[in-house]
Amino acid sequence: MSVFRRLLSKRQPDPSGRRWLFVPYDQLSDNMGPLSREDPRTLGIVLVENTWKAARRPYHKQKLGLILTNLRHFALEQAERGVAVRHVVANAPYRTALKQLGPELGSIRVMMPAERELRVDLQPLVDAGGLEFISHEGWLTTSEQFGRSAKKAPPWRMDAFYRYVRRDTGILMEKGKPVGGKLSFDVENRLAWRGDPPAPEVPTFPVDPIKREVVELIESRLNHHPGQLDLHRIPGTKSDAQQLWSWAKSKCLPNFGPYQDAMSKGSSSLFHTRISALLNIHRLLPVDIMDDVLGIDLPLPSKEGFIRQVLGWREFVHHVHVATDGFRNLPSGDPSIVSLPGDGGYARWAGKPWPHKSLGDHPDGGAKPSFLGGASPLPPAYWGEKSGLNCLDQIVSDVWNEGYGHHITRLMVLANLATLLEVSPRELTDWFWVAYADAYDWVVEPNVLGMGTFATGDLMTTKPYVAGAAYINRMGDYCETCLFDPKGNCPIADLYWAFLARHESLLKSNPRLRMIMATLRKRKASLRSRDEVVFHTVRNGLMEGLLLSPRDLPGR
Ligand SMILES: Cc1cc2nc3c(=O)[nH]c(=O)nc-3n(C[C@H](O)[C@H](O)[C@H](O)COP(=O)(O)OP(=O)(O)OC[C@H]3O[C@@H](n4cnc5c(N)ncnc54)[C@H](O)[C@@H]3O)c2cc1C
Ligand code: SF4
Repeated sequence: MSVFRRLLSKRQPDPSGRRWLFVPYDQLSDNMGPLSREDPRTLGIVLVENTWKAARRPYHKQKLGLILTNLRHFALEQAERGVAVRHVVANAPYRTALKQLGPELGSIRVMMPAERELRVDLQPLVDAGGLEFISHEGWLTTSEQFGRSAKKAPPWRMDAFYRYVRRDTGILMEKGKPVGGKLSFDVENRLAWRGDPPAPEVPTFPVDPIKREVVELIESRLNHHPGQLDLHRIPGTKSDAQQLWSWAKSKCLPNFGPYQDAMSKGSSSLFHTRISALLNIHRLLPVDIMDDVLGIDLPLPSKEGFIRQVLGWREFVHHVHVATDGFRNLPSGDPSIVSLPGDGGYARWAGKPWPHKSLGDHPDGGAKPSFLGGASPLPPAYWGEKSGLNCLDQIVSDVWNEGYGHHITRLMVLANLATLLEVSPRELTDWFWVAYADAYDWVVEPNVLGMGTFATGDLMTTKPYVAGAAYINRMGDYCETCLFDPKGNCPIADLYWAFLARHESLLKSNPRLRMIMATLRKRKASLRSRDEVVFHTVRNGLMEGLLLSPRDLPGR
C-alpha cells in the first residue's frame, strides 16, 4: 500500500452519515465554503485524481506535481480534522466518476467551478439532480459589481472596474478618497532592474514521502508530459503555502511596485510573489492575501500595485471570461470553436501527436477569435529549440524549467513576439495553458486572447500590447548577451514596424496609436520593404526551428 493510502486510512474517520462535498483540484481550502463553517464530523469530501484530465493537454510536469501533491496533502489535512475523505482515481470525465458515487453517498454539493471546462463537464449531472452547484466563495467581487462598474460595456476596461471596486469596497480609501491621493501608482512603477536591490532567492520546500510518490506516479504514468519537475520548488502542504506567502511579504513586496515591469535573465520572478499557482488552487485565499497586504507596512506604490493585481486584474479577467462564456459570445460576432483541446504546437515539435486518449463527449478546445487574423503555427522556439533571440530563449528556458514566468515576460516577450509573427492566438493560448503551472481557462484565455494578442479586438484593451527591441532592452538585460544588437540589427524592431504596416488599416484610427502610426507613415519605403523581408525571414527561420544570426538578415 502506498504511503499516501496508508496515512489516509490511518486518519480516516467513520464516513457514515456525512454530507458530501466534491472538492475539485482548484478548491483546496478549508477556509471557504462548507468546509469553513460546517462541523468536520458531519462532512465528507470527494477528491478525484483524474488521468483523463491530465491527458487533455500536454501540461507541464511541474503543474501535475503541484496539483497532485497538494490534493493528497489536502486529503490528509482534512482527514486529520475529522472530515471523511473519499479519494477516487478516475480516467473519465468528472461527472462519470461522481455519478458512480451517487447511490452510495447521496446528493453531493460542489462550489461553482472556476474552470468553464469543469462546469460544462459537470452540468449534465447537475441537471439530472446528482450534483448541486453552490456559490464559489473564493472570489473578492461579484458579477453584480462587475456589471455596475461597466455601465455601457463591453468593451470592458480593467481600470474602470478597479476604480469602481476600490470605491465600492473602501479598500485603500480614506473618507471616500484614495490613500495617497490617487487610485493608481502604475506610472511610477516602471523601473528597470540592474542588480540592486538583489533579487530574493526563491524558497524551497521539503521533499516528503507524499511528494516522492507523486514523482513516481508522474515518472511511471505521465512521463510523456513536457517540462522539468523540481520537487524542491513545489509548495505541497498548507504550511508550505504559508511559507511561500511569508517569503513574498517580506522579500518581494517591499520592492514589488518599482520593479513590476522589469525583466532579468538572472531571476525569473525578481520581486514578483510567485503565488498565482497557489491562489488559483486556493491553497492561498485572495481575501487573506488582501487582508495581510493591507495590514502590513509597505511603500504605497508597492501596496497599491499589488492590490491592483489581485483585486483588479485577477477578478476582472474572471468576470470577462464568465460574461463572454469563455469568449464564445463576443460583441463582434461569435468566433469558431476548436473541436479538440489544443496542444500548443506540441505535436509538431515532438514529431508525434499528443495522446488525447478518449475525450468522451466533451472534446471542446475553446474559442478561436483572431481580430488581427494571425493564423501561423507557434515556432518550436517556444518548446525550447534555440532561436538566437536571447530574450525569447532565456524566458522559454525558464518556463520549461519552472512552469513560471512573471507578467511582463509573458506579455511583452512571449505574447508580443508571437503577435508580431502572426501566430494563431488560439495556439498561443494553448501553449500558455500547458506551459504554466498557474493556467486555467478563466485566467489564461482572457490574458492571451483578450490582452496578449488583441485577438478579441478592443474587448479588454484599447490597443495591442506590441513593442520592439527598445522596450525589451530598456526593461530587461537579455540584450547584453545576445548576438543581436537592440539598437542595430535586432529583428524585433523591424518585426514591430512590419506589424504596424500590415495592420495599418485596422490600427490607424486607434487614438492610442496615433503618434506611432504617424511615424510609420513617415518611414522610408526602402525601410518598410526591408521590415517585410525581415518579417518573412525571421518567421520562416523560426518556423523551421533555425538558430538565427545577424548574417541571416538583410543589411541596412
Ligand atoms: C499572456 C499572459 C498569460 C497569462 N496567463 C496566466 C495564467 O495562466 N494564470 C495566471 O494566474 N495568470 C496569468 N497571467 C497573469 C500574470 O502574468 C500572472 O498571474 C503572474 O505573472 C503570476 O506571477 P506572480 O504570482 O509572481 O504574480 P505577481 O506579479 O506577484 O502578482 C500577484 C498576483 O496578481 C494576480 N494577477 C496579476 N496579473 C494578473 C492577470 N493579468 N490576470 C490574472 N491574475 C493576475 C495573480 O494572481 C498574481 O499571483 C498571464 C498574463 C499574460 C500577459
Ligand atoms: S537584441 Fe533583440 S533579440 Fe536580442 S535580447 Fe535584445 S530584444 Fe531580444
